[in-house]
This record gives sequence, C-alpha cells and structure tokens, in this order.
Amino acid sequence: MMESRMTRNCHVRFGERYEETHQSQDWKVRFVPTPLSPLLSNIALHGLENRIKQIKGASLIRYADDFVIFHENLEVLKQCHKIICEWLTQLDLELKPGKTQIVHTLNELDDKKPGFDFLGFNIRQYKIGKYQSGKNPYGKVLGFKTIIKPSDESVRRHYRKLSEIIKRLNATPQVKLIKELNPIIRGWCNYFKSVCSKEIFSGLYHLTHIRLRRWADRRHPNKNKHWVSYKYWTRIGNDNWVFGCKYKDNSFELIKHPKIAIKRHIKVRGTKSPYDGDSLYWAKRQGKHLELKDSTAKMLKRQEGKCNWCQLTFQEDDVIEDDHIIARKAGGDNSLNNRQLLHKHCHDEKTREDLKAIKAYKQDKEWQKLTQWFNNQNWEWVDDIPTLITGQRYS
Ligand SMILES: [Zn+2]
Repeated sequence: MMESRMTRNCHVRFGERYEETHQSQDWKVRFVPTPLSPLLSNIALHGLENRIKQIKGASLIRYADDFVIFHENLEVLKQCHKIICEWLTQLDLELKPGKTQIVHTLNELDDKKPGFDFLGFNIRQYKIGKYQSGKNPYGKVLGFKTIIKPSDESVRRHYRKLSEIIKRLNATPQVKLIKELNPIIRGWCNYFKSVCSKEIFSGLYHLTHIRLRRWADRRHPNKNKHWVSYKYWTRIGNDNWVFGCKYKDNSFELIKHPKIAIKRHIKVRGTKSPYDGDSLYWAKRQGKHLELKDSTAKMLKRQEGKCNWCQLTFQEDDVIEDDHIIARKAGGDNSLNNRQLLHKHCHDEKTREDLKAIKAYKQDKEWQKLTQWFNNQNWEWVDDIPTLITGQRYS
C-alpha cells in the first residue's frame, strides 16, 4: 500500500500567485507558493488511474491531490512509485517525500506501524479469530478484519477546536457556547458516523464533559459543585447530564457525540448515476430527488423504499400514493409523522379500513357533542333516567 500527497510547494506554474509590493519606487514581484487547488489537481491528475490500472492487481483511489495505491506485492508498489514519479515529471510535478510512504495494512513494515490515514480516516487490518474474521468474496476466512476509524490526528484536531472555543467563551452565556459548539460536533460526527467511531465518540463526549465541568466551575468559584451542576446541567428523560439551558422560551442543549447514531455507508450500486432517471433508487438512498416532492422522498427513505401496507419494495412502474396513517377525517394531522407511502391498490384497502375509523370517530364526536350540550342543561335523575328540567317544576 502506498500513500501519497502531491507536493504542495512544488514548482507548479499555475499554482503560483503573484503578489506585488511597492518598495522604494520599484515594483517587486514575489512568488507566493499556494496549494494546488482541488480542481486543478483533478485536471492535472486525470488519467493517473488509467495508467495504474495497466498494472495487474493494482488499484488507485484518489481524492483531489491525495491518493492511495493498493497492491499485495511490495515490489510492484515500488514499481508503481517509479511510474508515478515519471508520469508526474511530464507535468512538472513531484511527490512530496515527507508525505509519501509505503506501509502494510496488517503487519509492520520496516518498523512502521500497520495501516494508514486517508482523508481523516485511519484504515488498517487487525488479526482476529476465525469467528469474527473477514471473508473474501468466495467465503474463505481471511484471519483478519479491516477496521476504519477516525484517525488520531482528526480526533485530536476536533477536540482541540472544541477546547479552544470553550476556553475563548469562558465568560459568555451558556446559550452562546452551545450554539457555537453544536454545529462543530454535528458536522464532525456526521462525517465519521459511517465508520467504527462508537468508542471514539464516547471518549470525546467524556473529554468534552470534563472540559465543560471546568468551564462551569471556574465561573462560580464560591459555589459548591452541586449548585453548579444544577445551574448548567438539566435532566431530559433518563439523562441527568444534559448540558442545556432555557433562553427566551426555547430550550437549548449540547449535542452529545455518542447520540449521533453510527450508520454504515451503503455503496452506490456500480452503474448508478443520479442522472439515470431512477428517482426511486436515489430518493430511497438520499431522502431527496429533484423530480420528487421533498416529503415523498423523505418518506421513501424512512420506509426504506417499501410499501407500509404489503411490505414489498416499490418498483419503478408502481403507482405510489401518499396516505394519512390516521385519516384527516378521523382526526389525523397533515404532518409527515402521520403520512406514509402506499401502493395504489394497497391505499384502496387502507381507505376501506379508514372509512370504519372515520365512522367510529364521527359517532364518538356526535356523542361528545350531545353529552356536552346535555351537561349544560338542567337535568335530574327521574326513575333512573336522566331527564331534562324544562321550565317550571310541577309538584
Ligand atoms: Zn403495497
């Protein structure tokens, strides 16, 4: 496995920015090396994949100017390295030696730890017993498992960022701190929620909690810990430690890292493209599609592309209808929580059920109305029958 990053300060003509400085009446031009922009590197490195694919068994994964090459044979990798260097020389580019390395994903290689970091993820394989082990496509037990986690560096950077904000806002109201921290926590967790991050999320929550505790204690040196806890932490449901507050009738709470659910990424089916017109596939996947109503796409995603009545997956030619789970005429509202997607024929069956419910609901309502009216009148029990008292009582 070879991992590399294009050198950033290399002699790239188009990556340079001219900066003019006015000094003692002559104009001086200074070259300021700038990072290779993602677009430019995409253009420049287009074709690199095809070149590497010519080598049997090698695969290249590239994101802008960052790339990895996989091969099981070390010699082949060294050859790849050479090829890439030559290929880049034509473009007047070079690999940055400090950021290029050859490592093994399972074993140590030249005292280098197994695995590598790519786009903030740490990717490596772990030796593991036969029951937990990964398998190859033919079902053969491999004896190891690939585990992808947030890399140490990205965890450290994230925590440092949170910590700096907490430190900077040591005298501002709690609500402001929460508003500042939440988007950062949400964004970071969403990026890493598709890999094995559970333990790291818990660890980060714990660290953040300690940091906030110190933040709170510092503000009230003369108060005891219980007082401080009651001031800044509230109880929501079973959770006694929600860092939150009320502000202008709204309640705010800090997102906890572990509360963001880990959800495995499902690979896009090989030949699928968002422009292929298969709105069903994309809406189910992403919960949105240009050709579908927003609500329809959201419901499709929620129902995992299945009809809620017959539990069969919707097909492309099916007629799909929007249904109110509790009919509107039976007191249901129009919110998304009360709606579902059904086949047309399933919807018909559902409507038949609905009619019964509507009837019962109407009867119930009529009865309620009657009771209410009756209760407003004067009445009394006469021979065990409630009787209206109309006008004067006769004796
Ligand atoms: Zn159905």
